Amino acid sequence: MQWSRSETIAISKTSCTLCQGDGLRRTTRSGEAHPCNCVLRSIFRACFSRFRYCASKEKYMSRITLEYSSGKDQKRSYARRDEDYMADFCLVSKRSLDDFEYKIFRYHFLLGADWKLCCRQLKIDRGTFFHAVYRIQQRLGRVFRELEPFSLYPLNEYFGGVIQKSLPEGWSMVSAQPARSKSTLHPPLRRIA
Ligand SMILES: [Zn+2]
Repeated sequence: MQWSRSETIAISKTSCTLCQGDGLRRTTRSGEAHPCNCVLRSIFRACFSRFRYCASKEKYMSRITLEYSSGKDQKRSYARRDEDYMADFCLVSKRSLDDFEYKIFRYHFLLGADWKLCCRQLKIDRGTFFHAVYRIQQRLGRVFRELEPFSLYPLNEYFGGVIQKSLPEGWSMVSAQPARSKSTLHPPLRRIA
């Protein structure tokens, strides 16, 4: 996928010495632009923050939403968006990390262990731990944004259902906009005698 400055500049770190707050970096002058690590970490933090919010909500607060699926059938289905998001967050992370990184991800991000406990449990030093945390944030930030056909980030697209970016090739049968119901509401009426 192509990363654009309009997307990265809003979430980059203004004091970043690598991208000067631009969010994009080029290896050569005419080379392809790729996102700075500060942007990838910012994406991860946004997704992780939403995961914590979903996980901390009381069970009865989780809403069931009626969603219109695109395509020629245009069926409607019920979905639990919060639970779907939490499952996607965990499964995508597990698939994208190696064994060592996933252990740190699980202990530190999912179970809430601090760096001292993680270092003692995994028998690693502080530097190794924080290097691994940065690596995990950067890798998952990229994966969450570049996931196809539907990414976890931007979160408003995931939860809102309005897909703004163009779909990749091979997904031409899927409509980019969710179909809206065209039927009008006809409440039952009866003449009062
Ligand atoms: Zn940067």
